[in-house]
Amino acid sequence: MADAITQQKYFLSGKVEHFTESVIREMTRQAMLHGAINLAQGFPDFPAPAEIKRAAQEAIAADINQYAITWGAKNLRNAIAQQMKTAQGISVDPETQITVCCGSTEAMISTLLAVCNAGDEVVIFEPFYENYGPDAILSGAKPRFVKLRPPTTPEGEWKFDERELRAAFDHHTKAVILNTPNNPTGKVFTGEELNLIRDLCVEFNVLAITDEIYEHILYDGTQHISMARLEGMSDRTVTINGLSKSYSVTGWRVGWTVAPPAITDAIRKVHDFLTVGAPAPLQEAGAAALGIPASYYQNLAEAYCARRDRLMPALSQAGFRCFKPRGAYYVMTDISAFGFPDDLAFTKYLVKEIGVAAVPGSSFYNDPRDGSQQVRFAFCKRDETLDEAASRIKGLRKRK
Ligand code: GLN
Repeated sequence: MADAITQQKYFLSGKVEHFTESVIREMTRQAMLHGAINLAQGFPDFPAPAEIKRAAQEAIAADINQYAITWGAKNLRNAIAQQMKTAQGISVDPETQITVCCGSTEAMISTLLAVCNAGDEVVIFEPFYENYGPDAILSGAKPRFVKLRPPTTPEGEWKFDERELRAAFDHHTKAVILNTPNNPTGKVFTGEELNLIRDLCVEFNVLAITDEIYEHILYDGTQHISMARLEGMSDRTVTINGLSKSYSVTGWRVGWTVAPPAITDAIRKVHDFLTVGAPAPLQEAGAAALGIPASYYQNLAEAYCARRDRLMPALSQAGFRCFKPRGAYYVMTDISAFGFPDDLAFTKYLVKEIGVAAVPGSSFYNDPRDGSQQVRFAFCKRDETLDEAASRIKGLRKRK
């Protein structure tokens, strides 16, 4: 048997050996196995807006069932351009600057494949959404990590050290990946921080790839600023976004890139050969979604804020130290109070014995030790789900 496995492994690419399977997706499978409440993978358990679902049904009924233009249905690209203008004051040409992909996940890997050569380096803030590391490796680049340090006070923010960031940039740096509002920390990068990153991008001739999928999910008066809006950045920014989080349709797999024309050209080629195109009827529904009245986004953010404020006190009471998110729909926590050897042992206990799935912190760090006392909870769930999780989590106290 061992010989058979060795023989099979002979065929594998060295690239895949450098990363592990997604822990976030694995935790969803664990939740299903143990009948646990899934606060691991970030997807809503409540319905998507009725008008968007209706638009998808109508698109199928109208037989929009064949390939869309490979880089995206015209209606959707126009709606994306319109939205960037309204929300961020950024003018983009839907004919030459937008590529619709199968989710922002494909948008990110298509972008990296389109811009990276072997030996290039990509700067990534950590903790990071776990796809970015493997994405960089698959595209032949080497990730360089820059730490975001957790707040030391309950109302504090995650921060990076300016000198550490500068030290990560050199002539090998091709791109910096930025995710704001941030998964997993909930950090919303400030104008001042973005300007610092901008200055380094200009000085070292580096591309900014910004994942803005949580752009509408903001709390406590924070503002989302698109990197592409900053002076000097329109020619060196790829903005990534999608339908998943803003419209609660993570399974539709519709995302996109907005980039300068020559970069878009390259992204479109990679995207075309990877997937040909995103689901055609769901792109039409996406065009309808982006036309939704502005009050929808206000309500979305308020509803998520209420969910944050429902889950966080329950976690704190149970003994977690919570790092308050200012955006996105996750809360990172410190688990030192529970005395577990590491995050993996803790999440295993949590899913099996307590009946709640969360993501071990180590999956957001290059060196697992950095996340060994952290765990991430997603709160994009119905009140009943959050309340049930809260009541189960009380069981942790009894263990102590
Ligand atoms: N972004 C979500 C998370 O971090 C899930 C993304 C995914 O699994 N594709 O949980």
